[in-house]
Amino acid sequence: MKNFTVERNRIVSVIRDEGIKEKSVLDAMLKVPRHFFVPKDLEEYAYDNRALPIGYSQTISQPYIVAFMTQEAQLNYNSRVLEIGTGSGYQTAILAEICKEVFTIEIIEQLSNNAFTLLKKLGYHNVHFKVGNGHDGWLTAAPFDAIIVTAKAESLPKTLLHQLVIGGRMIIPLQKTVDEQVLVKITKRTQSDDYSIEDLLDVRFVPMVDGNF
Ligand code: SAH
Repeated sequence: MKNFTVERNRIVSVIRDEGIKEKSVLDAMLKVPRHFFVPKDLEEYAYDNRALPIGYSQTISQPYIVAFMTQEAQLNYNSRVLEIGTGSGYQTAILAEICKEVFTIEIIEQLSNNAFTLLKKLGYHNVHFKVGNGHDGWLTAAPFDAIIVTAKAESLPKTLLHQLVIGGRMIIPLQKTVDEQVLVKITKRTQSDDYSIEDLLDVRFVPMVDGNF
């Protein structure tokens, strides 16, 4: 039986060495028990720096990628953030540690329900769950300071961009060429479709269902 606290410290020093400097992100990673978010038979790999299957052909993202996306979203205790693709709920919990309010949408009902139950058990009260297609965002809760999309989209999601505050950031994996995906950061500069787009990292995410915006 592994000592999960030791394991968690180890993976956090790995991602720190890989360039994650933001203290709130490192603190959140030290705190959230990733082994609760993976299937029981994969528990021993929970603190490896890699994605793992969580059923329904979906994966829990690699710890470094979760940390990187969170850091790039530039969040603080006043932030309201939207996550598309709840999955295991691990990224959701990291966001809940840092932000004021987290809104998370998942298209697979069972994954959403599992994440809801686990996050309640872990004591998070600042997370709102919705089952549905993330394309539409969450109009009644918009605008958001940041939007994190954890499944790959085919094109820029205009509907979601409209739900950002001015100065808001969206972190999203986009298909670049047939076999290339890139994680991009989009910053909304004005109300009228003026965005800056920055390529961050080559990545490999599961596709967004119905991912054509
Ligand atoms: N953040 C999650 C990543 C899960 S993988 C984690 O670390 O556990 C991506 C998730 O996006 C999957 O659970 C998948 O079901 C979900 N997804 C795919 N297309 C979606 C869509 N159109 N709307 C909402 N969720 C979607």
